[in-house]
Amino acid sequence: MTAQILDGKAIAQKVRLEVREGVARFSAAHGRPPGLDVLLVGEDPASVIYTRNKEKASHEVGMRGRLHRLSADTTEEELLGKIAALNTDPSVDGILVQLPLPKQIREARVLDAVDPAKDVDGFHPVNAGLLATGRPALVPCTPKGSMRLLAEAGAHLAGARAVVVGRSNIVGKPMAQLLLAAHATVTLAHSRTRDLGAVCREADILVAAVGRTRLIQGDWIKDGAIVIDVGMNRDDDGKLAGDVDFDAARSRASWITPVPGGVGPMTIATLLENTLHAARARVGDG
Ligand code: NDP
Repeated sequence: MTAQILDGKAIAQKVRLEVREGVARFSAAHGRPPGLDVLLVGEDPASVIYTRNKEKASHEVGMRGRLHRLSADTTEEELLGKIAALNTDPSVDGILVQLPLPKQIREARVLDAVDPAKDVDGFHPVNAGLLATGRPALVPCTPKGSMRLLAEAGAHLAGARAVVVGRSNIVGKPMAQLLLAAHATVTLAHSRTRDLGAVCREADILVAAVGRTRLIQGDWIKDGAIVIDVGMNRDDDGKLAGDVDFDAARSRASWITPVPGGVGPMTIATLLENTLHAARARVGDG
């Protein structure tokens, strides 16, 4: 079997078009576009690119997107002050604080300070708790985008065996919650998991969110499995590589995401979707 490629670029484009239509309707109904405010502290080169891309993407779908660049020596109190102002600004629907933050700032204090109704990254404990209890929430973008990829592949999740490798708060845990809510039987694996290969071989749906190049070997893939590779790792030769040995896995899986061009493009598209969702919820329109 040669797996079909789950084309994240094309599906992300579809999501963006859906969002653009929703934004146009929102703007016509409420006399203003949804607003996304992105906070970047410092000059981390990858973060500079990510935040510029988020601002640009928000403009492309007709939102009011603003990037706030704060110096690397910004204090925790200054950042909290900025967030408090955005929390009360009625033109702001989504607030995103780009991670990682400089050492002098405690990440948890900052994430906790964002109004959960504007928490478009879905990292606030209130949103994590709502997701865990099966109630409407703002859901972290990468796992939500991965669920859309599964839907586009026509995955039958109810009763399926799903294995998520990686248990971070931003990817692995919420991914497991979403799969569970979709009635999959979910195993959440991590660095202490014994015989990871045997665990992965059980998976009808395998999601890798680890950050180790080609950790997931081809013969760990069950025949016909759907493989979602969240990993974004730099190879020795500087190229982007996933957590899955793509070429070997492709001969066993039914569907597989490439890296790049799989989960990556879905993350920003889903951020736009979350911002529109937050805007609608704030005006009682969805
Ligand atoms: P974290 O480093 O926060 O978490 C990694 C997880 O992998 C941990 O739970 C860790 O286990 C587990 N792990 C580490 N080594 C092993 C191992 N040898 N075997 C099994 N499990 C292991 O990473 P993130 O969740 O933030 O990100 C994961 C990957 O996804 C990264 O490559 C990142 O770049 C990428 N990413 C991609 C995004 C996209 O848009 N495509 C967005 C976000 C992330 P333990 O908890 O025991 O330490």
